[in-house]
Amino acid sequence: MDPQDKDTPPPPPEPLRVPVADSHTHLDMQETTVEAALAEAAAVGVTTLVQVGCDVNGSRWAAETAAAHADVHAAVALHPNEAPRIVLGDPDGWSRQGAREAGGDAALDAALAEIDALAARPEVRGVGETGLDYFRTGPEGTAAQQRSFRAHIEIAKRHGKALVIHDREAHDDVLRILREEGAPDRVVFHCFSGDAAMARTCAEAGYFLSFAGNITFKNARPLRDALAVAPPELLLVETDAPFLTPAPYRGRANAPYLIPLTVRAMAAVKGMHEDALASAIAANSARAFGY
Ligand SMILES: [Zn+2]
Ligand SMILES: [Zn+2]
Repeated sequence: MDPQDKDTPPPPPEPLRVPVADSHTHLDMQETTVEAALAEAAAVGVTTLVQVGCDVNGSRWAAETAAAHADVHAAVALHPNEAPRIVLGDPDGWSRQGAREAGGDAALDAALAEIDALAARPEVRGVGETGLDYFRTGPEGTAAQQRSFRAHIEIAKRHGKALVIHDREAHDDVLRILREEGAPDRVVFHCFSGDAAMARTCAEAGYFLSFAGNITFKNARPLRDALAVAPPELLLVETDAPFLTPAPYRGRANAPYLIPLTVRAMAAVKGMHEDALASAIAANSARAFGY
């Protein structure tokens, strides 16, 4: 077996002794069944998953999957790259659903109403991933993204759910809008991508910082510096699978069973024993998502 073969699933890592949650995954984008993914994850000590929706259909699927599996919790939202597609249409047709007609603000309101209804369900523990993405979406989509983000903050607060934030190259505006709207009690920065200063700002506000497999990348020094200053009581771990596969399997498909690789890399950065970090992460995940 060629270890560089991109189609070969990475072997299961040594199991964690203290079980943790994958705080952010997309099982609906992975080439496996939910049952197989849960079994592979549980076998290495990843016993809880937060399944994250990115559009109305994906959010409905997340809620149904969580309702059917006690160890799966759901987060529901319109992804920051989804909101402008709904409002402005999708002229390039690069979304999974293909080209889409422009629906304007009314279409966004209708989609938000669906998310609002899903957020009321008990198996839905988070509203997200929402936020801002200035990398994938150009300036023409900023207004729709910000309107959608503000609406999701309001939904999270009204239902008492965690707010799961996707922040890509938009740190200042994400923090500003959170301040302007008033943040919910529990805020998770998924796939934290800020530097040490941003980590301090988030920690002072009591926001959770969720680190993904990119913490293991060679060029991720600023991210490791951020992790180094982040308080253990606010740390979460996630795969964002199928994306961001940790080293040494970068380029292959990610899955929740690879979480131990990221936990071990995080423990090394923090100078903590793996079990102590896993215990902290397990407690933080339950607190963040209220399960
Ligand atoms: Zn994201
Ligand atoms: Zn995601």
